[in-house]
Amino acid sequence: MKRIKRIALIIAIGLVSLAISHVDVYSQERPEYLPGELLVKFQDGVSGAKIKSLIAGNGAGVVKRIGLIDLYHLKLPSSLSVERALTVYRNSPLVKYAEPNYLRYPDIIPNDPSYPEMWGLDNTGQTGGTADADIDAPEAWDITTGGPDVVVAVIDSGMDLNHEDLAANLYTNPGEIAGNGIDDDGNGYIDDVNGWDFAWDDNDPTDTDTACGGHGTHTSGTIGAVGDNGIGVTGINWDVRIMPLKIFRTYFLIFCSASSSDIISAIEYASMMGVRVSNNSYGSTSYSQAEYDAIQASRSVFVAAAGNDGANTDVSPQYPSAYDLDNIISVAATDDDDLLAYFSNYGTASVDLAAPGVSILSTLPGDTYDLYDGTSMATPHVVGVTGLLLSQDPALTVNEMKWRILNGTDSKGLPVLTQGRLNANNTLGFGLALTDVTVIVTPLGPTTVSPGDTINYNVALTNNTAFSKTVEARVFVQLPDGSTVDLEGPGTFILPANGTIDQDFSRVVPSGVNTGTYTLFGQAESTNSFDEDPVDYEVVRRELSK
Ligand code: CA
Ligand code: CA
Ligand code: CA
Repeated sequence: MKRIKRIALIIAIGLVSLAISHVDVYSQERPEYLPGELLVKFQDGVSGAKIKSLIAGNGAGVVKRIGLIDLYHLKLPSSLSVERALTVYRNSPLVKYAEPNYLRYPDIIPNDPSYPEMWGLDNTGQTGGTADADIDAPEAWDITTGGPDVVVAVIDSGMDLNHEDLAANLYTNPGEIAGNGIDDDGNGYIDDVNGWDFAWDDNDPTDTDTACGGHGTHTSGTIGAVGDNGIGVTGINWDVRIMPLKIFRTYFLIFCSASSSDIISAIEYASMMGVRVSNNSYGSTSYSQAEYDAIQASRSVFVAAAGNDGANTDVSPQYPSAYDLDNIISVAATDDDDLLAYFSNYGTASVDLAAPGVSILSTLPGDTYDLYDGTSMATPHVVGVTGLLLSQDPALTVNEMKWRILNGTDSKGLPVLTQGRLNANNTLGFGLALTDVTVIVTPLGPTTVSPGDTINYNVALTNNTAFSKTVEARVFVQLPDGSTVDLEGPGTFILPANGTIDQDFSRVVPSGVNTGTYTLFGQAESTNSFDEDPVDYEVVRRELSK
């Protein structure tokens, strides 16, 4: 358990007088969840009265109801242990699942500053490593350096909002008036101008908890420290808007950690505000169904640190990175020789790619900079490149962004799914040429429908090259909860040079489905290209005839 000792080291730095001689003792007792709290998901269709009666019946209270996945965050009476409450709730026929309010920990390692060069962006051998063991950032910056319309959520310990090299890239909520005590945009959060602090429940996500060591300010700087301003470092995005969503705080006096309920609330907030990508440099070994459901329902790119145990997460998973969800990108860490960092988790099924994560120079609170190690530091490299992708083409789907990142890697024989390390230039390069095979879905009829209606649509596959192409195509629907169901295919087609094939389909909207937005995706993948075309269908209750 190497990671535990490293985390403890951060704690020791924050609380020198308190913790040094007891570092191992504290770290080995790192708690798995918060006492006195429970997360409960009730079965669909259970009445509010029954829920209220069950909760009141065992003396619990509702802390919060999280609408994204309709989850109840409960406070238990002191007479009821989490273990006992789990048994009670799991045995109730009203309950779909109940779980503890798990704690996650940052995947960071501190490192003394010695080589203040950002080798991960452009490696010339300046740190004694291998030239070009980097993400080719200067080449990518010839394509784009980012833009102010891209918002990236950093779900972390907050951010130094006034940092000289970050302040200009801080997100501002256009619908909210600062400091008037009014929820101007009606999103449920008062004066949420620059993100939110879910850990302390206030509108100031400043990175102040000492035990967290400036973690969120560091990850933010890698994504989007202001570029070309003559100060400090540069982010992968010179220009971007960073939304700090603070989840980490000090628990039990010494632990920098984040609870499931705060993580889920932050995911919900980012999703509600339309954010398409988030940075998640944290984890632990407990599986949370609620966290899984929230990530799926967010319908955004969820980039997560693989973890720092030096472990194969196919066998010993860390969450959230190891959930089997299409919208998660799990990131391992490499060094300046393109070798897997000794601390990095890996896994050919559960980890997607690697990115620089050793001796990474970035911003810290108080206009300072320092080198940190960790998959925590690798993750924002991938988020940064996702930000560049969104500035290049805001219409990219979640799967399209993930495909470009995974297929843009430089193959390095690493023990991860792609065997590769992130390459920004390759990834952005996919957008410079017309996709080899494109798919277009055309609705043949209204897109506002009711259960029992028939929908008709046409799917066209076009080969944009002068060569015959084999393409795998399918049509699937994404439900309001983010899960997907295949409608047509997948099937394999051979497209003639510069040819198009198309077909009409019809489907009945099943009776009894929930109302909401159902997105139909056409998808076409060939050897070197991937394309999706989304069409939204609104499912509404049928109006009674008058
Ligand atoms: Ca608000
Ligand atoms: Ca306000
Ligand atoms: Ca700068």
